[in-house]
Amino acid sequence: MKEAILIVEDEKDIVKMLEYNLKKEGFKTLSAHDGEDALESAGREHPDLIILDLMLPGMDGLEVCKTLKGNRTTASIPIIMLTAKSQESDKVVGLELGADDYVTKPFSPRELIARIKAVLRRIKEKDKLPEVLKIGDLTLDFSRICVAIKGKPIELTAKEFELLKTLINAKGRVLSRDYLLDAIWGFDNAMEIQTRTVDVHIRTLRKKLKSEAERILTVKNYGYRFEYED
Ligand code: CA
Repeated sequence: MKEAILIVEDEKDIVKMLEYNLKKEGFKTLSAHDGEDALESAGREHPDLIILDLMLPGMDGLEVCKTLKGNRTTASIPIIMLTAKSQESDKVVGLELGADDYVTKPFSPRELIARIKAVLRRIKEKDKLPEVLKIGDLTLDFSRICVAIKGKPIELTAKEFELLKTLINAKGRVLSRDYLLDAIWGFDNAMEIQTRTVDVHIRTLRKKLKSEAERILTVKNYGYRFEYED
């Protein structure tokens, strides 16, 4: 699946330039022109990374950063800030608020793309699941693609396993049906009938997970979340 980058910037020329360059590098792009729009889009679309300009109309970039990092569904999305030379102190505040990196304007697309790749690589390293994971009565062996409950193997289809793995990988974040559909089935802009595929698979997955079924929580009208804690 293509990694999605959300560009938050009110200057349309910069958005266009970034969209062009990111697409050329094989990324999918989304854009938001103000803070409110950015929060909405980040919550709904779950981008893999956010490019956040600090100078925005209305809600400023730092406020957007703080809100994203303070919200469970968006906290783990990496952020690269775009700052102006005159905003040296904002840059420090932004990093303290949890932004992952910054690029000072004017910048070359090549420089920004290198930073994006570095941040994504770092996140992937950090998020890498161990080969065998134990959560409550559940044991997942990612190298052998098998799952057991209280030591007893259970049979999952490839899609069910992918679904479980994706939910676990989200580390407690809520994943929307659309996101899951795109990540596991490769459907972009899914129709209602397709989003139901996710629900059907969740249902069979829960049935198979027996005593650990409640770990998959439904977030009404949105999607699902995996609960780590007992
Ligand atoms: Ca701006």
